[in-house]
Amino acid sequence: MRDYDNENIFAKILNGDIPCDKVYEDTHVLAFNDITAQAPVHILVIPKGKYVSIDDFGAHASAEEVTAFYRAISKIVAEQGIAESGFRCISNTGDHGGQEVPHFHVHILGGEKIGPMVSK
Ligand code: 5GP
Repeated sequence: MRDYDNENIFAKILNGDIPCDKVYEDTHVLAFNDITAQAPVHILVIPKGKYVSIDDFGAHASAEEVTAFYRAISKIVAEQGIAESGFRCISNTGDHGGQEVPHFHVHILGGEKIGPMVSK
């Protein structure tokens, strides 16, 4: 856990200070609809642990947390009915990656063709 900002918006969602439209929760993971959805399905998946980024999570999370995170994504896409039609997972990281919220999260986007992988 590096320079984790306890005041970031997802920390506030995790501690209940800010509400969210929850779609999934277990011991290690919370998932909720993005407040500014960019696709018919736009879900944010976050670990409950204090990890800044996918890099921080991969380097420092326990095996149990990492497994729970990937299992959660599979459960969510099945529940949302997009496992077969397809979807995109994005984890914006740091300045060049365009990360706005400094708590590790994966965007799940689906429900329609998501378009080019990168647009500039
Ligand atoms: P990033 O750019 O960090 O990858 O994405 C952050 C995402 O968090 C954005 O898509 C933004 O719409 C979403 N977001 C920011 N604040 C809130 C909030 O208070 N609630 C929810 N549900 N999503 C938020």
